[in-house]
Amino acid sequence: MLSFFDLDPTSLESFCADHDMPRHRADQILRWVYRQGVVDPSAMTNVSAAHRDLIAEQVEFYRGELLASALASDGTHKLLLGWDSMKTRPAGPSPLPVLAPTGGPSDRSTETVLIPTEDRRTACLSSQVGCPVGCRFCASGLGGLEGNLDAGQIVEQAHRLSWLEGGSRVSNVVFMGMGEPLANATAVMQAIRTLNAPWGMGIGARRITVSTVGLPAAIRRFAHFELPVTLALSLHAPDDDLRRELIPWAKFSTIEELLDACRAYFEQSGREITLEYLLLGGVNDRSSQARELARLARTLRANVNLIRYNEVDGLPYRRPTDDDVLGFQRILRRASVNAHIRASRGRDIAAACGQLRREQRAH
Ligand code: SF4
Repeated sequence: MLSFFDLDPTSLESFCADHDMPRHRADQILRWVYRQGVVDPSAMTNVSAAHRDLIAEQVEFYRGELLASALASDGTHKLLLGWDSMKTRPAGPSPLPVLAPTGGPSDRSTETVLIPTEDRRTACLSSQVGCPVGCRFCASGLGGLEGNLDAGQIVEQAHRLSWLEGGSRVSNVVFMGMGEPLANATAVMQAIRTLNAPWGMGIGARRITVSTVGLPAAIRRFAHFELPVTLALSLHAPDDDLRRELIPWAKFSTIEELLDACRAYFEQSGREITLEYLLLGGVNDRSSQARELARLARTLRANVNLIRYNEVDGLPYRRPTDDDVLGFQRILRRASVNAHIRASRGRDIAAACGQLRREQRAH
């Protein structure tokens, strides 16, 4: 079976030619899927019945199994997709240590979230099943890495979110779900091409953000990607010691090396860097830390995104108070750093990354 969301117009045309279908069939199918949200060949009414049957036999559209979905009162919609019935690519050999799976039953599921606001509909996508990084505060990293998603599985998430309840289309994409995107960079870049393509999802490159914990060499390689997407660096601490406590992979590089790589990304892409800073109550939200973060942010073209932690059962971190968050932002702004507080969305549906998956696992 061919996986539809892995195809581009050229490969779809080859498929049509190989099966004696007219050339324009490829275009018709692409339009049904990406313009109309139709993933059932029997509903592609301008395709002949024989060709509809053939497509149904040979092409797989949605490959994930919808295991759970949750809709929050603020419109945030989270899906848990299971990839058990098909292969996820095992993570290839890596020069970096990968946290081993916990030894429990294999759980090949990922979360994907639609976050609607007044002016945009943002899809938060996963790039891996589990995560190799193992951040101490994150539910997704607890079980280690199970495997990589392929490009089609990544695009499928955005497509499903685009056509939820016949709602309007996804306008923005952030790679901030499960996984470290630059540890699966080839699939992520291929997926971004389809997300961006006029024949695909048609989402502007500037509306796509790749969020990474950051490995300098991976950032420098990514700087040569042909599409100028936004790079977000998950900093989460203003000094190496604390960062290494929170993010195991931080031991592979210093903050200074990472910021150097981000400067190279800016020079190559022209895109301002976003520094993501997850505020953990009593851990990294002190005034002195805000001042140090401001100093770092001023060494490159960057804005700062402050994120209030959503508590995770079983993890020792707490959500900071509103006053502490506002105070932290004030210090950054006084230092002329463009700092935003990201609105907390979907708290009533276990919005922290990986939580729906954990809850489902416990059932
Ligand atoms: S925060 Fe991101 S990088 Fe860290 S463990 Fe969770 S999914 Fe992985």
